[in-house]
Amino acid sequence: MKETISKNLFLNALVCPTLGWRLRADDLPDGVASKSPTLADQFRMEQGVEIGRRARQLFPDGVLISTPNLSRAAAETAKLVRAVGPPVLFEATFVVDGYAAKADVLRRIGDSWHLIEVKSNVNLKQELIDDVAYTLMVLSRAGLTVSKASLLLISKDFRLGMEDAKLFAEYNCTQDALVRSSEFQSCWDTIRDGTSAAGMPEPTLIPACKGCELFSDCLGKGIENHIFDIPRLSPRKVDALTQLGVVRIEAIPQDFELTAIQARVRQAVVTGRPWVSPNLREQLNAIRWPAHYLDFETMMTALPLYPDTAPYTQIPTQYSIHKCTAVGEIPSHVPYICDPTLDSRRDLAQRLIADLQGGGSIITYSNFEKTTINGLATLFPDMAGKLSGLTQRIFNLEAVIRDHYYHPAFRGRTSVKATLPALLPGMSYDTLNIKGGDSASAAFAMMALGRYSEEEVEKLKEDLTAYCGQDTLAMVKLVERLSEA
Ligand code: SF4
Repeated sequence: MKETISKNLFLNALVCPTLGWRLRADDLPDGVASKSPTLADQFRMEQGVEIGRRARQLFPDGVLISTPNLSRAAAETAKLVRAVGPPVLFEATFVVDGYAAKADVLRRIGDSWHLIEVKSNVNLKQELIDDVAYTLMVLSRAGLTVSKASLLLISKDFRLGMEDAKLFAEYNCTQDALVRSSEFQSCWDTIRDGTSAAGMPEPTLIPACKGCELFSDCLGKGIENHIFDIPRLSPRKVDALTQLGVVRIEAIPQDFELTAIQARVRQAVVTGRPWVSPNLREQLNAIRWPAHYLDFETMMTALPLYPDTAPYTQIPTQYSIHKCTAVGEIPSHVPYICDPTLDSRRDLAQRLIADLQGGGSIITYSNFEKTTINGLATLFPDMAGKLSGLTQRIFNLEAVIRDHYYHPAFRGRTSVKATLPALLPGMSYDTLNIKGGDSASAAFAMMALGRYSEEEVEKLKEDLTAYCGQDTLAMVKLVERLSEA
């Protein structure tokens, strides 16, 4: 049992008492408890630490409470918040009645305090207000008067090389945080008692279960074809099926209202056979050969890595092209990866135009490639005509699968990570060193930041090329398999 209730635990317990109880009891399945951070997690954490460090530079009078020990940090804070203490505290720590909170920045305003939470987001959203409201609630219980609450977010106007003060945009969220904090206050006793109770609360299926990391060990345990595998099932329908005691797709009553896409998922699961639209062949016949299969990888970082790029600018970093003369016939594979030390988008755009020459289809998986090419066209008006010409040739394979084919093993999804193992079980990403887009993005950003030796960079580039190449090869194989359906 965890000694204290943290912000994360409290906010999760608000949504689901079972989840709150299990988090406090450390009753987590192996896969969740022992999950080591991915490269993407590591990069996000690293950026968060750097943003926190830069935020602290804005308050030169601040004192950092750096001990990782919660009780010692709370004791140190208690001394420093006295009337004669420093004007600004970083990581001020409070433990009250089983609850713990750390304030990123706490600034004195006379006898009261200004609470500032630092976030790597650029846009204000409710979960950030909730974050501030939780800390405000614990500070109030600890006897502090908080007269102002702010969020320090990343400014959209920041560019590489600007001073740290321009990195942040402050949002005064005092009113919203006070309202939310008083709502939280009313749950104080319930959550404290509920999360420390001897027995776990009975789990109840709610829409949030779908995204819960404990789902497969909780209400999803041992249930094949769960109703959550039905795409876009509204919370209203989830509630209605729960009332009927239905958790498996096969048990959904025939007269239960489903959309056409949802009904075909049920049909495929019930019959155990793929659903194939009568128009699938006609759709595939629209591909003009020779065709190019195209996939991009991109990166988005909170702190810009190149001049004149804004925070979270989506920067294409590499692409893979498999050229096919007919279904499954691959005469060539063309990978391209940018030089991470500089903004190579212009070179990438020029090479892309050259590599996609011809009049055949450009087969992509989703609209992402079209959006990326349009972004390049906006950035480089001198190439806009040629780049727009490429988008006219795009054939979106995922849209064809979504509208014309469903396999029971898709489990309600149409991403390539769902369709590939269902249609081509022997073809997997598991053997690759880079297994996902997030890790590819983080790896490139780390290279751009100069974190690797020359040999490591060369090896990573090979891994990234293999990953992106697998995405286009997967499309080649999917079209082959669908052509046989
Ligand atoms: S699966 Fe649902 S009931 Fe179980 S812990 Fe998660 S949110 Fe709660």
